[in-house]
Amino acid sequence: MKVIRSTTEMEAAAREARAGSQRIAFVPTMGALHEGHLALFREARRRGDVVVVSIFVNPTQFNDLKDFKKYPRVLDDDLKKCRAEKVDVVFVPTASEIYPGGFKIDVKAGAIARDFEGASRPGHFDGVVTVVARLFRIIQPHLAIFGDKDYQQLLVVRQLVRDLRLDIEIVGHPTVRTQEGLALSSRNMRLSPAGLKIAGTIPRALQGCERLFWEGERDIRILESHLCRSLTDQAGLRIDYAKIVDAESLQEISAIPIQRPAVALVACWVEGVRLIDNISLAPVA
Ligand code: AMP
Repeated sequence: MKVIRSTTEMEAAAREARAGSQRIAFVPTMGALHEGHLALFREARRRGDVVVVSIFVNPTQFNDLKDFKKYPRVLDDDLKKCRAEKVDVVFVPTASEIYPGGFKIDVKAGAIARDFEGASRPGHFDGVVTVVARLFRIIQPHLAIFGDKDYQQLLVVRQLVRDLRLDIEIVGHPTVRTQEGLALSSRNMRLSPAGLKIAGTIPRALQGCERLFWEGERDIRILESHLCRSLTDQAGLRIDYAKIVDAESLQEISAIPIQRPAVALVACWVEGVRLIDNISLAPVA
């Protein structure tokens, strides 16, 4: 496994792979790797010849400096996990490799990034598309894999690829969860055992909503209020948002009954940690 820190060296490795007609499968991460990330690496292995993982805690996507500073950084451990998963190249750039001095061109994320994570974390998705565009340029992947867990991010990246006409296949991967259903996240490390129990309410609330949906409930108001009630009933948990919206546009759904695929999006605070999750409510009969 190669660990590459310089942009120039990464570009050369990508050129070499492409010259040998190898398919480059790319998984961008911010490190503190867990089973969710590893599932993405395995999918990359299945779909590509060369698996490239980037580990970069991107400062421009954090609107809160404290959150950026608190983000776990465990590179040695991450590299061990990458090696065990037979990742070919780990790209670990410094901020100055990605944002060299004076180079201040930003990519703006547009309408799909306006609500939800975009509203709660102003500038977050501009930072995401800016770094993803640069990583795509440096790594030249044929395909890139993103988790469904960050549902809005997946839509934003798809939009980036469409708008810039990049020849990169974007693959979404199902959310990997604990036995209790909690979506794996590097942020879970900051929760106490009691906090982890409280956080378990989030997947239960989403599953409850899905169950109602499958039982035939198609009234968005009833589904949404059921979702919110299950969350507000839990002490120690504060809702940031809990909404059911169109799965493609993330716009409000006005039609009752729901006629198009929808997604329930949730963000909650537990013990000062912000957790997000979602469940898709599709196909609609
Ligand atoms: P991050 O390191 O948090 O930026 O995540 C890197 C990639 O892993 C993103 O595409 C995430 O959506 C994905 N990811 C994070 N957690 C999970 C999970 N529990 N299941 C599946 N993918 C995940």
